[in-house]
Amino acid sequence: MTFTTEETSDFDTSMYYIPKPLDLPISTEKQSLSSPQPKMTAAEEEEDFIKNNYVAKTLLAIPELPAITWSNWYTQIDWVKVIVLYSEPFIGIYGVFTTRFVWQTTVFAIVYGLLTGLAITAGYHRLFAHRAYQASLLLRYILVTLGAGAMQGSVKWWARGHRAHHRYTDTDLDPYSAHRGLFHSHIGWLMFISNRNCADTDTADLDNDKTVQWQFKYLTVLNIFMGYIVPVFICGLGWNDYRGGYFFAGALRLFLIHHATFCVNSLAHYLGDAPFDDRHTPRDHFITALVTLGEGYHNFHHEFPSDYRNALEWYQYDPTKWAIWLFEKLGLATNLKRFSKNEIQKGRYGMMQKALNRFGKTIVWPKDNAMLPIISFEEYQELASKDDGRQLILISGFVHDVSNFIDTHPGGRALLKSRIGKDATVAFHGGVQNHSTAAHNTLAMMRVAICKYGGEVEHLKKRLGHDFTPTPILT
Ligand SMILES: [Zn+2]
Ligand SMILES: [Zn+2]
Repeated sequence: MTFTTEETSDFDTSMYYIPKPLDLPISTEKQSLSSPQPKMTAAEEEEDFIKNNYVAKTLLAIPELPAITWSNWYTQIDWVKVIVLYSEPFIGIYGVFTTRFVWQTTVFAIVYGLLTGLAITAGYHRLFAHRAYQASLLLRYILVTLGAGAMQGSVKWWARGHRAHHRYTDTDLDPYSAHRGLFHSHIGWLMFISNRNCADTDTADLDNDKTVQWQFKYLTVLNIFMGYIVPVFICGLGWNDYRGGYFFAGALRLFLIHHATFCVNSLAHYLGDAPFDDRHTPRDHFITALVTLGEGYHNFHHEFPSDYRNALEWYQYDPTKWAIWLFEKLGLATNLKRFSKNEIQKGRYGMMQKALNRFGKTIVWPKDNAMLPIISFEEYQELASKDDGRQLILISGFVHDVSNFIDTHPGGRALLKSRIGKDATVAFHGGVQNHSTAAHNTLAMMRVAICKYGGEVEHLKKRLGHDFTPTPILT
């Protein structure tokens, strides 16, 4: 891991402000600091936790449906979704092996796939679910129409579930909680009738958006029209490839877009790093970004969900961010939200500190000072004079046992030997040799006692013996 510091003078302050201090009269009353709290029993503590924890309280209030077993599983499956989602790959593969290759259809399928995919990432996700920017009426109509061509339900349904995912990440109220396994977070949550009702999320803004309401009203028609009729007829009328239009620009495209979107809930919660916060499962990874049109910087996204970017750096792959930037340049989008660099750096700093603490735990540190005995200078001298195999040297108030080190001392054995039983503080700190940091660290490992009052300081002792005149204390 590398720790870098960046120039901080160019901080974006669009979402960063320091509030004014409260205008309160200065209280003259002393506040009691020791208001004793009555101790709670374990049962009371649990009750208090549930009372103050929305997720726990809601989960208790929602009746859970019976568990899925071998005898009832078919009643718990959402058959429409299962048939649609599981037939797509088979139709696509059948088409690949039975349909002639027409390059115009391939190009169109890729372009149409990108457009309908971007309608989900830039539209359903960053615009409607997170309000990361404001879009003109025309752009919103384009996004909800193209988004219907990706067949992922209505904006209303999609954004509601996604807001619940952000609000209750990794809990049982998260519709695609990563803690329920990779399969569940990828496609399992769609296959089974949810055994939890979707938790409360605020979607009033979507209820007031006429483009969202329009899409909701005509969703089935829009799905069929944008999902199949448009690609089939463009390929058919354009270059007489109706069959290719259906298989490649229709079924195969939908299969790929569906699973690309599912990867944001599955892969983006498993693969990669957590540079901003590791308390939850979202992760940043280039591979996930590659398959999801840039949604793979998911750790950043969960920390700063209303930021229109997922990738911060220019070289990171985030075509959705580039598309939104282009919308702005075309006059179709405004108010692109960015979290301040200062707040983003705090996340990075916290994670670096955690990594540093983990690294620190792999190192053996000197004995805690509180564990060392305190002895007088005279006691130290007496101990050092004993012929018990110990070689004791006093440096900076600590008594060190250098017996295992004395023969390998880079400055020679004799130099060290001459300081035994004495205070070698000055010699160690530059009197003889200005020791390296490594030498300081190595020395600290040899501490065996603390000398009361720090010990004797050699240079003062020498001055005392040579016409030392004490400096008067001025009063
Ligand atoms: Zn997520
Ligand atoms: Zn999101």
